[in-house]
Amino acid sequence: MSQQFGDFTASELYCPKCQRSQPVRERLLLVLLDGELHEFVCARCGASLGKRTTTGRKVQPAAPRPAPRARKLLR
Ligand SMILES: [Zn+2]
Repeated sequence: MSQQFGDFTASELYCPKCQRSQPVRERLLLVLLDGELHEFVCARCGASLGKRTTTGRKVQPAAPRPAPRARKLLR
């Protein structure tokens, strides 16, 4: 069975320390400017099994403000 890393949230990953697939815990490592960096750690031994970044597409509060990185095409 091939594992793909995509948008899905992994529930099990192969752990080289345990030498088998283990349930993983996702924990927040860093909050970035435009997303969050999560780490998957083995629920058994705590080894880091992978990382995932999420883009900040959460529901924003309805406060109108200019996007800081908006660019206009100037000619
Ligand atoms: Zn493990």
